[in-house]
Amino acid sequence: MRFRSTRGQAPPVGLADALRRGLAEDGGLYVPEAFPRLAPADFGTAESLPAVAATLLAPFFRGDVLEAELGAITTEAFDFPVPLKSLPAEHDLSVLELFHGPTAAFKDFGARFLAASLARLNPSVDRPLTILVATSGDTGGAVAGAFHGRPGTQVVVLFPKGRVSPRQEAQLTCWDGNVQALSVEGSFDDCQRLVKAAFTNEALKSRFELSSANSINLGRLLPQAAYYAQSSLAVFRRTGRPANYVIPSGNLGNALACIWARTVGLPIGHVHLAHNRNRTVPDYFAAGDWQPRASVATIASAMDVGNPSNMERLRDLVPDLGELRRFVSTDWVDDPVIAERIKTDYRRFGEVWCPHTAVGAEAYERLPAEVRAAGPWVLVGTAHPAKFPETVEPLLGLTLPIPPALEALLALPRRFRVIEPAEAALTQALL
Ligand SMILES: *Cc1c(COP(=O)(O)O)cnc(C)c1O
Repeated sequence: MRFRSTRGQAPPVGLADALRRGLAEDGGLYVPEAFPRLAPADFGTAESLPAVAATLLAPFFRGDVLEAELGAITTEAFDFPVPLKSLPAEHDLSVLELFHGPTAAFKDFGARFLAASLARLNPSVDRPLTILVATSGDTGGAVAGAFHGRPGTQVVVLFPKGRVSPRQEAQLTCWDGNVQALSVEGSFDDCQRLVKAAFTNEALKSRFELSSANSINLGRLLPQAAYYAQSSLAVFRRTGRPANYVIPSGNLGNALACIWARTVGLPIGHVHLAHNRNRTVPDYFAAGDWQPRASVATIASAMDVGNPSNMERLRDLVPDLGELRRFVSTDWVDDPVIAERIKTDYRRFGEVWCPHTAVGAEAYERLPAEVRAAGPWVLVGTAHPAKFPETVEPLLGLTLPIPPALEALLALPRRFRVIEPAEAALTQALL
């Protein structure tokens, strides 16, 4: 399979090149030239995530240097559980828990799959593959953990000093060896600007093969489609009906993966996008014009995105808003309502949501009763609540147990360098 740019001004490339480059040369995002079609029967009796993923992704890997490695990649990347838990709600509702990986958020799926793929593309020790990540929260830790200890690669994480949560900072700064953390005296936007500048810096380009692991990389999107395939097949086998999803969304990477799985032919019905006060996408669905804006801070901070980059892929797939509205809808939820939902659902279900998952739980509750009754519905759980104790614990008056993988990371010593928000400072740190 070949992948074209959404902007049509760069040549199509194979999978390995798309993974290595991240962004197309014309600034567009890579999308498949044509989607394969698969029916539930094509998955046979496959149930585990690695097995379902290998069937789903085989057409995307066909003809690529990585084709023979696909089975090994999915087995290595997806080595943690992905429970689909039924909830005692009025209508058929389950939660898909995507937070049992090493850094306790769904970013582990994409980061681990990308790392397992790039590690098989013969990285060179003389000119190491250098992954630059600007992060405001969960991505940096997931990418650092996925590449840690891999020969021929190094990761440089840039985060805004003092502006990530204490547990997120611990996950960014607990690594040694091939992972370097840089605490930038500036904002997230400064971090992103430095990363972009590095890609055009001749001294850095001659010394390192630079790559980026942010959410526009195809190597993060494809593996996310796999858990929608696996969970929708499980629902379909149980009920004979397609699964409908509520997805807490920011940059729309998670949602787009679901819509791609639906396009391939998985039994997926309706997709409901749950946003926080960053309303760019709900406003587009309501009014029909696309108005990106600056992001505002909320308690569901991993969804604080004012200009979701994956919208470019969604509009490339379904340019007509009327057609998109036939199977995609949106809602948005304000901070005080998120907090109330965390309390209500703890009483009702005994479940503790992270603030992002709570946005989805609230959006589900607001759907008309006949829409909920026409399920089954799946609420996507994007992070473990113990990543956000400062928000969740005071609401519920309890101390959350920390998942063992996360606890192990929190116990490690912290290593990072503080740099000025200037290109020269980044170059110096890298060389
Ligand atoms: C990244 C993230 C989101 C938003 O996902 P997108 O793919 O950017 O829409 C939601 N919740 C959590 C916990 C996240 O880390």
